[in-house]
Amino acid sequence: MESLKLESSKLKSIAILGSTGSIGTQALDVIRANKDAFAVEVLTGNGNADLLIKQAIEFNPNTVVIADESKYQYVKDALHKYDIKVFSSNKAIAEVVQMESIDMVLTAIVGYAGLESTISAIKAGKQIALANKETLVVAGDLVTTVAKEKGVNIYPVDSEHSAIFQCLAGEFQNPIEKIYLTASGGPFRGKKKDFLATVKKEQALKHPNWEMGAKITIDSASLMNKGLEVIEAKWLFGLKPEQIDVIVHPQSIIHSIVQFTDGSMKAQMGLPDMKLPIQYAMAYPQRIKSDFPRFNFLNYPELTFEQADTKTFRNLALAFEAMNKGGNAPCVLNAANEIAVQAFLKDKIGFLEMSDLIEKCLQQVAFISKPSYADYVETDKETRRIALLEIL
Ligand code: NAD
Ligand code: MG
Repeated sequence: MESLKLESSKLKSIAILGSTGSIGTQALDVIRANKDAFAVEVLTGNGNADLLIKQAIEFNPNTVVIADESKYQYVKDALHKYDIKVFSSNKAIAEVVQMESIDMVLTAIVGYAGLESTISAIKAGKQIALANKETLVVAGDLVTTVAKEKGVNIYPVDSEHSAIFQCLAGEFQNPIEKIYLTASGGPFRGKKKDFLATVKKEQALKHPNWEMGAKITIDSASLMNKGLEVIEAKWLFGLKPEQIDVIVHPQSIIHSIVQFTDGSMKAQMGLPDMKLPIQYAMAYPQRIKSDFPRFNFLNYPELTFEQADTKTFRNLALAFEAMNKGGNAPCVLNAANEIAVQAFLKDKIGFLEMSDLIEKCLQQVAFISKPSYADYVETDKETRRIALLEIL
């Protein structure tokens, strides 16, 4: 902690986009425990105005933004006694991330909604701690190209990608042969289609190893989360699709593995706790001493591995298909999935129908091989329109 402070000679100033969510609140836990290393410059939220206000009063940021404009006055009134600027709308989020005083932007908004602000932060040269994987799924080509142009590093927060990143430390001369992303398998591991046809959201929302926001929890149950992570890994580590494999590892102790060209494999392991990859991304290249619970081998006498069942969990196969196709196909996949998950959470479609919907959208939306930013925006909109028509 001390050394981090000395090296940077000032606190690292962080903007947390989506501070009221699962990743956002855990990032604030990390900052609360390391006030000599980090300062909060910006907080943003959407639905939970009360939590955003509470966080602002505790962390005293320069600015808060509430995306939901109907809650603007409420937040502004609650913070009027404090020296904190208050703005509203997603456009405002995309503007405040460019503030001079910000060193790093943690993107913890869920879904496509995080794309504009992430690109805006990269354009302003801000370092990125990336949790919002959908950003790279939708527009990985564009995002990584702009990051390269601006000399911006994208530090992964997703635990699997953090694991790969940690395994690559000191290996930058050595090419990757392949990577294995581990998957817990979610609450329905081993189940077949007849069972999945009957499952309700309450069952899908119970993840065996991780506490997360609702959208990613459903994605984990359907294996779409792993599919999104495969595409995320492609862009983060500059890999070809055939270099990325998925292995089901129900204990979630090995967070992912890199295999090098000499056949050596490096894995990163530990108890499942998102605070570790969040902290690693924020403090990179340093490791900050923590009191997170330590792993004990004797509590896990067996670590096991299985093949993912892509015939039953078709979302993972669809994600590989979209990645192989490239262009705007992953953007279609993502938008269709966002609509599918919302519909499943509202009991409008069944668990297996989520894959049907995504497949239909992949067939129906016009393919664009080299999309511009405007093409991604249009593809997202058109996919949502088609998906919503299918649900009615
Ligand atoms: P969450 O639902 O708990 O939180 C989402 C945050 O985004 C909230 O602060 C919410 O207010 C904000 N938000 C939602 N919709 C918005 C909109 N339209 N405009 C602006 N802000 C909006 O989600 P989470 O689980 O924290 O996940 C956040 C991101 O991190 C996702 O992309 C997810 O895939 C990724 N991620 C999460 C975990 C985890 O353990 N939770 C792990 C790896 C990656
Ligand atoms: Mg993950």
